[in-house]
Amino acid sequence: MGTSDATTAAGLNGKKRISVLLPLPLADAYDYRVDGNLELQPGDFVVVPLGSRRVIGVVWGDAGGDVDAARIKPVAARLDAPPMPDALRKFIDWVAAYSLSPPGAVLRMAMNVRDVLKPPKPVRAFAAAAVPPDLRMTPARQRVLDVLAGGPPRTASDLSREAGVGASVIKGLAAAGALGAQDLPPGPTFAPPDPDHPGVKLSAEQQAAAASLCDQVDAQKFEVKLLDGVTGSGKTEVYFEAIAAALRLGRQALVLLPEIALTPQWFDRFARRFGTEPVVWHSDLGQARRKLAWRAVATGEARVVVGARSALFLPFAELGFLVVDEEHESAYKQAEGVPYHARDMAIVLAQLMACPIVLASATPSLETRVNVSRGRYGRLELPERFGAAALPAVEAVDMRDSGLKVDEFLAPTLREALVETLNAGEQALLFLNRRGYAPLTLCRVCGHRFECPSCSAWLVEHRFRRQLQCHHCGYNAPVPRACPQCDTEGSLAVCGPGVERIAEEVKTVVPEARVGVMTSDTMHGPDAAQEMVRAIEARELDLLIGTQMVAKGHHFPYLTLVGIVDADLGLGGGDLRASERTYQVLHQVAGRAGRAERPGRVIVQTHQPDHPVMQAMISGDRETFMQLEEDNRAQGGWPPYGRLAAIIVSSRDGAAAAAAAAALARAAPSGPDIQVLGPAPAPLAMLRGQHRQRLLLKTTRDKAVQPVLRAWLSQVAIPPRVRVRIDIDPYSFL
Ligand code: ADP
Ligand code: ZN
Repeated sequence: MGTSDATTAAGLNGKKRISVLLPLPLADAYDYRVDGNLELQPGDFVVVPLGSRRVIGVVWGDAGGDVDAARIKPVAARLDAPPMPDALRKFIDWVAAYSLSPPGAVLRMAMNVRDVLKPPKPVRAFAAAAVPPDLRMTPARQRVLDVLAGGPPRTASDLSREAGVGASVIKGLAAAGALGAQDLPPGPTFAPPDPDHPGVKLSAEQQAAAASLCDQVDAQKFEVKLLDGVTGSGKTEVYFEAIAAALRLGRQALVLLPEIALTPQWFDRFARRFGTEPVVWHSDLGQARRKLAWRAVATGEARVVVGARSALFLPFAELGFLVVDEEHESAYKQAEGVPYHARDMAIVLAQLMACPIVLASATPSLETRVNVSRGRYGRLELPERFGAAALPAVEAVDMRDSGLKVDEFLAPTLREALVETLNAGEQALLFLNRRGYAPLTLCRVCGHRFECPSCSAWLVEHRFRRQLQCHHCGYNAPVPRACPQCDTEGSLAVCGPGVERIAEEVKTVVPEARVGVMTSDTMHGPDAAQEMVRAIEARELDLLIGTQMVAKGHHFPYLTLVGIVDADLGLGGGDLRASERTYQVLHQVAGRAGRAERPGRVIVQTHQPDHPVMQAMISGDRETFMQLEEDNRAQGGWPPYGRLAAIIVSSRDGAAAAAAAAALARAAPSGPDIQVLGPAPAPLAMLRGQHRQRLLLKTTRDKAVQPVLRAWLSQVAIPPRVRVRIDIDPYSFL
């Protein structure tokens, strides 16, 4: 653990000068004066002047004291809101120091909700008043008065629902003086989850794992446990028990999920276990719901929060248990803005909160495995699927001798299996991690390839929308009739498949099948995804074709066949985790097959059937594969056997970026425990019109990268049109 600047709540009494952290990317907290009898504690939200503006900030601690007293401005006001908890302030300092980001930029993530500190509006409610003698009575009006007779005041929306009338009826009655309006204090927004709501009956193995987690929760001390269980073994049901234990202690619980909006089934199961929905937190939530959720966490009304990575920065005052589900997911790494890995930071938060944390996965990350074998984390195992379900049989199809035409992508084995499965009244899933119709469009006459004007990337054809799209910057253009280079009409050809092209091919294989395509761009929002999940559950669809989005946690009892269209897709490129990640996603997709009584079958199409990933898929031998990966990483000194930081230098001016990268390289640190790789043009040498160069700092495990980076960067003057971004523990090498 690093050091922290946040003072504890007791430390400020009688101080007339304080430091206030503002949610802005400033290097430090600013000093302010406390006038009159304003009483302030660390964590209080205050309004302070900044230049000509007024800004909301958080009292961070004692003032440094070296600023001229006459120049220090007074705090304008203290806001009436629960103070930011000590642990969250320490967490913000910790994340800032670790990621080399300004603390204010981290604070901004913790209060990134519009008007969150404005008190909620009171609720307008109506009660019956004396009915004016000249009131024209209608059946609808009478129903409203009947509902109110003798009952408590009700809001307009409750009234209209209970009386079965439109809003205009209530307005009319109020205008006529037949209803009296009054303001009620805002009531509770979230029903408390009930830990004793009857849940499923756990198997003996599940029970043992749950008991161990519950003991940890009861002990309320920091401890990390890996919950390592095959897909369908009941990990979720097991950690629900630990959440119940936290609730019984009067503690809050937080569950992180990688793609929160996309797993409606998780919410159903939570509601079944606890009798109500959890409080949800993610970036697609509207501002109004974000505000409600944030405040409910701050006041303690929210007892269980399920959220995406940014939920770590909510103001929990009584957190007693954390879960990181699918802990191996790279979606936990935020690369933009303040870069952080939510799994790693969740562990830091648990330590600051002195509470236990569970990492759940069927394919734990190498980092976590190594922490288990070093004895830093404990491990609980659920080696079997729940109930009658068995793990699916996996077979590989060697695509080097599949005999397919260039525009065909489904091998005969897979085609036959599709026909058989659908004939048996069961469902199938085809997985291809590529959106759109085809990843490359070219001219057969002159060879012109369609490239993004601002990125070094091919444009992907989206045939449903008749568009060419860049998957990096969002650029799009209609598919032209003629080649823009040689003007030949009808000369354009596409190479390779995306999910849309697979959807076209399956029509020739199973023409009658009801097909759904599930990708982030064919699903407009969480509701569409939820609707498709429902349609599959209700067996209104026979065949689902999708990207990584389909891999997430879904449980479809009639889905018995999974076809992996291109298992090699993630293996290219120089990413140190390419094999591990490919294995994880393939394993997870395969885990969708045969989750109930019907046995599952998985067909893996590959050009590299001997690759360790494919061998591990076929044999089901995860340990041998992960051990091989571990050995490779250990030999190269790669994480978690060494530390990495990426330095990305970018500019609209390619020469300026290259010059700045070269200057950084000349000042590069050296030593027996330090290595600097690069600079080299990034694989995505141009992104959104920015030319990009990369350097990589690699140190041994016992050498922290942050002080090395600070010393290094302070020696090099970076021109204003060049941007240098630091990514500690990088997961993307593009
Ligand atoms: P995992 O998270 O390990 O993939 P889940 O917790 O999603 O596994 O469980 C898989 C399925 O089995 C879910 O539908 C779940 O409700 C069901 N299940 C698991 N354990 C039990 C149990 N003890 N009793 C009834 N159903 C269970
Ligand atoms: Zn682009």
